[in-house]
Amino acid sequence: MKTTVLGYPRIGSQRELKKACEAFWSGKSSEEALLQIGTELKKKNWLQQQQLGIDLIPSNDFSFYDQVLDACLTFGCIPNRYKNIDKSNVLELYFAMARGLQKENIDVTAMEMTKWFDTNYHYIVPEFEKEQTFEFFSKKIINEYKEALELGIKTKPVLIGPVTFLLLGKEKEAGFHRIDLLEKLLPVYFEVLSALTDLGVTYVQFDEPCLALNLSEKEQQAIKITYEKINAEFPKLKVYLANYFDCYGDNLDIALQLPVDTLHLDLVRCTSQLDDILESKHFNPKTKLSLGVVDGRNIWKNDFEASLKLIEKASKKIASENLWIATSCSLLHTPYDLDLESTLKPEIKQWLAFAKQKLEEVVTLRNLLSDESDAYLSLFEENKLANLTRKNSSLIHNENVKERILNLKPSDSHRDNPFSIRQAQQKQTLNLPLFPTTTIGSFPQTKEVRSWRLKHKKGLISQEEYDSLIAKEIEDSIRFQEKIGLDVLVHGEFERNDMVEYFGEKLNGFAFSNFGWVQSYGSRCVKPPILFGDVSREKPMTVKWSEYAQSLTKTPVKGMLTGPVTILQWSFVRNDQPRSTTCNQIALAIRDEVIDLEQHGLKVIQIDEPAIREGLPLRKENWNAYLDWAIKAFRISASGVTDDTQIHTHMCYSEFNDIMSSIAAMDADVITIETSRSNMELLDAFVTFKYPNEIGPGVYDIHSPRVPSLTEIEDLLIKAKNVLPKEHIWVNPDCGLKTRAWPETKEALRNLVKAAENLRKRE
Ligand code: GLN
Ligand code: ZN
Repeated sequence: MKTTVLGYPRIGSQRELKKACEAFWSGKSSEEALLQIGTELKKKNWLQQQQLGIDLIPSNDFSFYDQVLDACLTFGCIPNRYKNIDKSNVLELYFAMARGLQKENIDVTAMEMTKWFDTNYHYIVPEFEKEQTFEFFSKKIINEYKEALELGIKTKPVLIGPVTFLLLGKEKEAGFHRIDLLEKLLPVYFEVLSALTDLGVTYVQFDEPCLALNLSEKEQQAIKITYEKINAEFPKLKVYLANYFDCYGDNLDIALQLPVDTLHLDLVRCTSQLDDILESKHFNPKTKLSLGVVDGRNIWKNDFEASLKLIEKASKKIASENLWIATSCSLLHTPYDLDLESTLKPEIKQWLAFAKQKLEEVVTLRNLLSDESDAYLSLFEENKLANLTRKNSSLIHNENVKERILNLKPSDSHRDNPFSIRQAQQKQTLNLPLFPTTTIGSFPQTKEVRSWRLKHKKGLISQEEYDSLIAKEIEDSIRFQEKIGLDVLVHGEFERNDMVEYFGEKLNGFAFSNFGWVQSYGSRCVKPPILFGDVSREKPMTVKWSEYAQSLTKTPVKGMLTGPVTILQWSFVRNDQPRSTTCNQIALAIRDEVIDLEQHGLKVIQIDEPAIREGLPLRKENWNAYLDWAIKAFRISASGVTDDTQIHTHMCYSEFNDIMSSIAAMDADVITIETSRSNMELLDAFVTFKYPNEIGPGVYDIHSPRVPSLTEIEDLLIKAKNVLPKEHIWVNPDCGLKTRAWPETKEALRNLVKAAENLRKRE
């Protein structure tokens, strides 16, 4: 049996690539310096994998920005608007496509970005035209192979498969389907493969995670045609076909009949497919299987006993030389190295494995199968013990929490009365005008605000000093909001680093790493909290500042919380119980906070859930099960208050069409959504569905410093008024203002309030 991995993190254990890219973009360092860092990172990654004993090491998994953008360059899929950029300066062209470019007579926008399947990684969306042509343009894949070869490592170059590449993209004009471009695209893949085989490449990894989706018949045929043609053209090439993040599902029969050398299985996300495959009539025992048993999406130590069972099951039907032990997917989604962590509790640390430790696990699993020496047996025992202590640890288990979950009653996820009754009561209590104005929560996180937090963290300023700085900032923001005449105020979230981390740090059951960075997009990294145990709330988390803000004014202030699904979605979540149970635990903690806020005089409370939509499973047949528990968790968090307390929720840019009934089932009194960039198009779903509760369609794009004019905002509001009952409409920006500066924020909010006033006058 041999070992392989599907990809390795590339940002650098100290985020070297992030720093190098940002220095280059700001003109502080040269192109050579950036390329040099890239070369060093690749080399380090390859040598590390080699030293730890990985047999087949990937190349072309490195990227200066994104692997899909790399593929666009490889296949010459470069949108027309970049035609004035000198093509010989590939790096400039590359970053222009990633980030836009303004210089001399060039002014081009960036390509769109969206989430990579169900991960928090964002890729650049390929753009296709009807008359799209392709050419073998960037030679990155060739150069990387040669680079590794110079180190004596014969790698497995990784390519995004042609069907996934096309499906991930977007048609930029009507009149064709991007899958029809396959015919033109395949010859360019052949050119790439020719160049690779000329260099002596034996294995090429084709990533086709579209196989984890519901494919149409045409798309399934495209898969079949692609791999049959590749095989006909390159009969000696060993194709390693990788699907991950879910089962092959409906696509399994097709996949099993493809003339490929190896079929990769994500056995973490879909364990049952091993049986399905071994028992399938289409299964050809000559096909090699790559058993993805080491989780590339999470940070838990592997359970060797369970993994070995799977491997042994496979090896009963398949000769061991036809089996690979592998990671479930690329390790891009895990942090680098657990050894760098010095502040995690040792008890928790022993339950974890980051990318480097996962390499060791892959190799150990293989060795455990063939080597019965004491050294390996003791590794097995060690692993068993670590997992056993995790199972029984008092750090994880909290009987009170478990009991509360067991005792949840249907009434816990229902407000006392239906919306229409609540609405009437809230009208009385809050006494708001028609078209009430509000904001989404955060105000500018200025350099000063961030420097206070940093100084406080480093112990350079005392708690008292820090608190008084925050208090002053809150007071200023309240005065400003009062002055311009907003109807529901916010405290501004100045005390928060991040909307999930802030709550994670205050809740039991979460741990934090120092270097657990994962690439989110380009040079941006996130450090997800590690949700390891039963979640409980020790004491109020937000009451102090919300209550303080309310004490400063007679105008209602909105308490501000992050919802259970979003906290779950943006953390590394425990794998020893269903996600739904963990989500309910968070929901109960947030519920307690909601009730506390109510008791301390907050009559409006917002529970943000921007991550509901991205939590949807990849296959539609699994949507309902997810939506059922996710929506219920939100309702548990929101339903502990009396009818006259107004619950808001907020979601960022999302496609709502196909989940409208679930959004309505959340039963928030008010939902605010991001709509301004789509010119209110995203509102259509709510209109068609006849969304029953109140709604604030965003009228101000907060992603750029540009100030929307009064008439622009009025026009958007009139659009909304034409399609929604006017008593349901709120006026607010698209999202929080933390990334903005004060001057533009003030001007824009003044316009926003004025636009609402003008609209009222016309009534
Ligand atoms: N309340 C948060 C803020 O205003 C919401 C952020 C979000 O939706 N991502 O920043
Ligand atoms: Zn938002």
